[in-house]
Amino acid sequence: MNSEDLFQRSKLVVPGGVHSPVRSFSSVGGTPIFFKEANGAYLTSVEGKHYIDYCLSFGPLLFGHRHPEIQEVVEDTVRKAWSFGACEPYSLELAEFITERIPWVEKIRFVNSGTEAVMSALRVARAATGRNKILKFDGCYHGHLDQLLVKSGSGLAGLSSSDSKGIGPEIIQNTLVLPLDDESKLEELFQREGSNIACLAIEPLPANYGLLPQRIEFLKKCRELTTKYGVLLLFDEVISGFRVSFQGMAGITGIEPDLVCYGKIIGGGFPVGAYAGKREYMDLVAPSGPVYQAGTLSANPIGMRAGLKTLTKAWTENPYPNLEKATKQLTDGILNLLSQSGDSNWEAVNFGSLFWLKGKTEKAIRTISEIPNTHKSNFATLFHKLLKQGVYLAPSGYEVGFLSSAHTKEIIDLTLEKTKQALQG
Ligand SMILES: *Cc1c(COP(=O)(O)O)cnc(C)c1O
Repeated sequence: MNSEDLFQRSKLVVPGGVHSPVRSFSSVGGTPIFFKEANGAYLTSVEGKHYIDYCLSFGPLLFGHRHPEIQEVVEDTVRKAWSFGACEPYSLELAEFITERIPWVEKIRFVNSGTEAVMSALRVARAATGRNKILKFDGCYHGHLDQLLVKSGSGLAGLSSSDSKGIGPEIIQNTLVLPLDDESKLEELFQREGSNIACLAIEPLPANYGLLPQRIEFLKKCRELTTKYGVLLLFDEVISGFRVSFQGMAGITGIEPDLVCYGKIIGGGFPVGAYAGKREYMDLVAPSGPVYQAGTLSANPIGMRAGLKTLTKAWTENPYPNLEKATKQLTDGILNLLSQSGDSNWEAVNFGSLFWLKGKTEKAIRTISEIPNTHKSNFATLFHKLLKQGVYLAPSGYEVGFLSSAHTKEIIDLTLEKTKQALQG
């Protein structure tokens, strides 16, 4: 059994051979590796080769693969039940744990993915305001729900065009799109459309199209204008929640959203998402209110208990300062080795345990239009050199890298040794 054969077989029965597009390596070329096992900072391919993993399932694994304490909870749960479709105490414990520690989360509803969380939060926002329009930003990803799978149109600021076939103009006619990092365009749009907008949705740390940390002034302007015009501010913290700090970007910036979405870390590696926020909005959700939302497998006990264990560890152990340090060691080391090998055209954008390797630019970039157009192919070359030596990055130059607490000093040093070999080879 090897990856090449499995991929060929897979393409016969699965679109593109994968269940989520980036996995196909289409952005970096070559054949995707099929993995059979994972442990700590490591992935093991079906060929039996080990890889140090900096993709980490795209973010959920804050403590690495199969952390023993989380595995124990999962095994204990499986011995008790794996789905009830009824009330149980596990989701209550997770809901209480979060609401007690994040003030703007007064009530929370668990769903099965980040996409589902955002979709449901928008429904709440439209119900709460009686308005239909949604504002999002070019380069922010909010899952694959129809309404937000859009980019800026080339014409008037604010107009949008779909990113996907199968989404007709009538579906996105209420979606407005602006570039990030531009307060004046934001002001202009709110003056024109503010009273028609239900919700401003933003990744407060845009991390799905490279890593584009925003100026605090821009995020504050989002809060100021939404408050002024009675628009709900939705922070999509699916990737940043419990990752950059326990309270996510809202905690770091001190900007309180009206609604917030979580995913990834909240389920400890199991399929869990959540939407949450102020009581007055969340009480609109059925059965306490008129906004319908339901789920057969919602609040699945395995995800609930893996999530609670993960969040409990994050809260009590505060891994964030060490993660940040390790991430800087890693990217400093890689950049050093690159420049020693004669390639000094790289730099790293880091935020906590998130990192993004990119081509050097004159100034920090905050919008997708500033990403150098050589980035994709330069990244692909670096990706394959590292892959050959057993270092696995997310297979796209527009995805960010992640560290976990399993990435110890020894693992970072080993990664740098492998990087050195990769750049010589
Ligand atoms: C991953 C992600 C989503 C989508 O979550 P899924 O669980 O893949 O549906 C939405 N928003 C952000 C910011 C994300 O990073």
